[in-house]
Amino acid sequence: MDGYLSFAAPDPTILCMSAFDLLLVSCDVLTRDGNAYRVAPDCDIAISGNRIVEVLPTGQIDPGQAKSTVNAQDMFAIPGLINTHTHAAMVLFRGLAEDIPIESWFNDYIWPLESNEEPEDIYWGTLLAIAEMIQSGVTTFADHYFFCDEIAQAISETGIRAHIGWAVFGHEGLTKLDQTVDFARRWQGGAGGRITTWMAPHSPYLCDVDFLRETAARAKALGTGIHIHCSETHEQVTYSLEQHGVTPPGMLHRAGVFDVPVLLAHGIGLTPADIALLKDHDVAISQCPKTYMKLAMGTAPVRDLRAAGIPVGIGTDGVVSSNTLDVLEQMRLLALDQKQAAKDSTVLPIQEVLDIAFAGGAAALRSPDLGEIAPGKLADVVLLRTDGAHFFPRYDLLANLVYSARASDVDTVICDGKVLMQGRQLLTIDLPRVKAEVAARMQRLNQRATERRLATYPVPQK
Ligand SMILES: [Zn+2]
Repeated sequence: MDGYLSFAAPDPTILCMSAFDLLLVSCDVLTRDGNAYRVAPDCDIAISGNRIVEVLPTGQIDPGQAKSTVNAQDMFAIPGLINTHTHAAMVLFRGLAEDIPIESWFNDYIWPLESNEEPEDIYWGTLLAIAEMIQSGVTTFADHYFFCDEIAQAISETGIRAHIGWAVFGHEGLTKLDQTVDFARRWQGGAGGRITTWMAPHSPYLCDVDFLRETAARAKALGTGIHIHCSETHEQVTYSLEQHGVTPPGMLHRAGVFDVPVLLAHGIGLTPADIALLKDHDVAISQCPKTYMKLAMGTAPVRDLRAAGIPVGIGTDGVVSSNTLDVLEQMRLLALDQKQAAKDSTVLPIQEVLDIAFAGGAAALRSPDLGEIAPGKLADVVLLRTDGAHFFPRYDLLANLVYSARASDVDTVICDGKVLMQGRQLLTIDLPRVKAEVAARMQRLNQRATERRLATYPVPQK
């Protein structure tokens, strides 16, 4: 019974006087002891307001002190999953761009399709994405998209937590950039603190140095971070060297982007010098392996990033490349892809995968109160059913979590102390209504006029 020894001994006086808002009773709990992830069997988790206040062996907390209880017997409690890079409302286009090269994916599909979007589409698309994420145990996501007021509205209504950046291309100019600044100012700390805003220039290949410099200055003045795509393929690195004489991270550094907290999506083409640069500037990386495998983009140097002490989190990217918003699936694929690329089955063992998913996700979003079930942390907790045939035997719950668990095992989701799903019933989203609203828009949204594309993906000379 060593899984909870690091917690403070219970003070019976405090326990008797406290009235918990929520008590999760009798679950196995994923805990962290230093860098080691372990299972604390048969524990109760007490929540007051939006914080976890106690995690103790069942029987030590009087259920009578809780305003409400959830029977979590035979469930496995894990921290709410963190999706560190996505474009949530791209669910509107799920299944429309399959088995094609990356240049065509951008130029013939994504950017023509996205030119059809109107603000209300983003509201309904984001609600659909949030429903899928809650059903998959995701309680925090980092969104990089358009019409962000509608995204923020969807987050406010559904109870999930999000980091939102309004995606902007350099050719849209400073007026547009300033609109994204206004959004970031308007919604910072919104939805009772569940919303954090970022600046979100698209990428070094679609924002020039001057535009990036202006973005960095605004982020610094606002006190926000910058969430941006970078070095998504080796060809992009070649293109950057030809056009600018530096790698994509070198260009970001030149523009002063690394003077503020930065979250880079992808980093497949990072060089050893890039990695040293990222480390020097406390840059974090998001990894979305399903997209990399599906678009044949290559494999990021995750081991080198981790060895350098750079935070690495898991993302799903948008579903037009990854098809789902399932972080459990991405965790598994990250481990498998890294093993396969290294031709070494010992690479990225279970403990490291868990550290990337939870501690890494929290670090990538600069949110140290996420990613752990422990007193004082934010009350984002997911209860997984473990009675499925694929979860049995339970010799090693951590192995089952990384290599066997499915999104459909998620039974109950708590975010910021509020129950958002219980018994797989979504409590804050009317999913049939959301699907009907999305369906009513599909005829208009799936038109593909390439002359209306939002941007053009630069194709490097071969
Ligand atoms: Zn992306």
